[in-house]
Amino acid sequence: MVEIERHDYDVIVIGAGGAGLRAAIETRMRGLRTAVVCKSLFGKAHTVMAEGGIAASMGNVNSSDDWQVHYRDTMRGGKFLNNWRMAELHAKEAPQRVWELETYGALFDRTGDGRISQRNFGGHEYPRLAHVGDRTGLELIRTLQQKIVSLQQDDHAEHGDYEARLRVFAECTVTELLLDSGRIAGAFGYWRENGRFIRLHAPTVVLATGGIGKSFKVTSNSWEYTGDGHALALRAGASLINMEFVQFHPTGMVYPPSVKGILVTESVRGDGGVLRDCEGRRFMFDYIPEVFKDSYADDEQEADRWYSDPHGNRRPPELLPRDEVARAINNEVKEGRGTPHGGVYLDVASRLSTEEITRRLPSMYHQFRELADVDITSEKMEVGPTCHYVMGGVEVDPDTAAARVPGLFAAGEVAGGMHGSNRLGGNSLSDLLVFGRRAGLGAEQYLRQLGADRPEASEPDVDAAARRALAPFDAGESPAAENAYTVHAELQQIMNDLVGIIRDGDEMRSALESLAELERRSRNLAVMEGNRQFNPGWHLALDMSNMLLVSECVAKAAVRRTESRGGHTRDDHPEMDPAWRRTVLACSWRDGAVEVTEQEQPPVRADLLELFELAELRKYFTEEELTGIPDGST
Ligand code: FAD
Repeated sequence: MVEIERHDYDVIVIGAGGAGLRAAIETRMRGLRTAVVCKSLFGKAHTVMAEGGIAASMGNVNSSDDWQVHYRDTMRGGKFLNNWRMAELHAKEAPQRVWELETYGALFDRTGDGRISQRNFGGHEYPRLAHVGDRTGLELIRTLQQKIVSLQQDDHAEHGDYEARLRVFAECTVTELLLDSGRIAGAFGYWRENGRFIRLHAPTVVLATGGIGKSFKVTSNSWEYTGDGHALALRAGASLINMEFVQFHPTGMVYPPSVKGILVTESVRGDGGVLRDCEGRRFMFDYIPEVFKDSYADDEQEADRWYSDPHGNRRPPELLPRDEVARAINNEVKEGRGTPHGGVYLDVASRLSTEEITRRLPSMYHQFRELADVDITSEKMEVGPTCHYVMGGVEVDPDTAAARVPGLFAAGEVAGGMHGSNRLGGNSLSDLLVFGRRAGLGAEQYLRQLGADRPEASEPDVDAAARRALAPFDAGESPAAENAYTVHAELQQIMNDLVGIIRDGDEMRSALESLAELERRSRNLAVMEGNRQFNPGWHLALDMSNMLLVSECVAKAAVRRTESRGGHTRDDHPEMDPAWRRTVLACSWRDGAVEVTEQEQPPVRADLLELFELAELRKYFTEEELTGIPDGST
């Protein structure tokens, strides 16, 4: 068989976004030899694209904020399907992780009196998002990279080798996890530049590979989001939960076609921007759902007063959670009140001064100027929903981030549970840091228990992984050869049209039939030209099996959940059903097929339930679940 380079570590972190880097920092600081593998350039992870900010209840702008309020908002945003323990840890630990980031060298925007500034975002009761203009992700990644480099400097001083205990394998794609009797033994992959294979041996793997958006046609996600970590985990024996919940961000660019889907940050609305139909009407007042009626203003005057007097007024409905706003926009367009290019208007020009817009939203200003020739200081933007985030992911233990496979951990967007059926903006960056750190701690704990009994991947398994990776080169001669770009385009169209923002049972069943046909065709995916040296056609052919597998999980779980909740809206089951709240759908991989099973959520701890008014809980829980719960005092 071909020669394969080998490296041995204690921990392999797959992914160098916020979650992966924070996990790697933790394991390295605890003395573990750590490899970070990423398929993009180091520093180019998805996290770098995050714009609006990181949610943490520091209470700098409104001192009423605390972890309990953040917890409540997160649970409400997720329609109470969140793993309550993850939401609790997240709300409690997020401020510490933000302050820690400043000790690593981050510098957030400040309030007048020098504290970290915080901005409003959808679903957050108080201004809560720490930010650096609208380029927060860049600062987060820059800082974590800086910390990695400083740890490597320490290693050089101590061992004469920068990479003695922490090495980054950039532009290196992992295609398989290696197992030994069901336990993690390492990972197999290839260098994107020259196509050579690489095997990394370690008893622990932290998956931090991000999301799945590239399975959809219109998406804010970059080329990396092909669901690799989701698929790696599933094939290794882990389960994925909540896969039916896909977030469509309300505001992506709709025009010109080449940039359709690119994100328009929620900060535009957080800082005062409003949504209007083709006649200039602020339509969001028509879309405040019953469960949120008490907290959102029902006329423009009150909504506008809220910006200067948040205590005496209710919030503008433009700041409802994302699922609500995305559905509203979808409906406006469907009913013929959209813009010429099939979106609605997002207007910040009539709301803020030119100086404020360019200071608070510099990236948006440049994005529209350069990509759409629109000056957002004087013109309205055209926006519409875009596939943005997947709430579903690897089922993990909330405290340790451990998956069901011994030695496997997952953090960040690839992990499921934290956000329930819908993520609040800003809660991802905090999730990455809180659970990235916890995954690192979990890996250390596992290694300590493991002692000298380290699993070892077998040679036949490694050879088989290499053979599978090379298969698209053999398929080229076959008359049944399929082009990866064609199959990808068909997959994206199916997912967009049939498993998108508004779903229907018959459409999804037809999507599943089409997915099965695509899966059959994908067995003949072929490299049409070139060899193993930087060959995007080959890379896509390998990514396709992940996208198809993950799409099957999304569609199968979505068919099974016969209600509408958060990022899962069904025309044929439009209501939220309290009987479904306690049920989590788990996907597993059995005999070459995705199997969906129903799992019961553990009951929410009583002291956390008591943070809510009983009247509010009644909107989400069954009467049986609420028996004996005293009325909350919030
Ligand atoms: P990522 O940052 O995506 O990193 C994934 C890593 O995995 C990459 O290094 C990638 O190369 C690597 N990888 C993937 N597959 C493989 C493989 N097979 N082998 C090797 N490496 C692999 N959230 C907020 O909280 N606030 C915001 O303001 C915000 N703004 C956003 C704006 C945009 C435009 C987008 C798209 C998202 C935004 N989000 C925001 C969401 C947030 O940025 C992401 O959810 C988050 O960054 C995901 O981080 P991660 O560490 O899980 O993964």
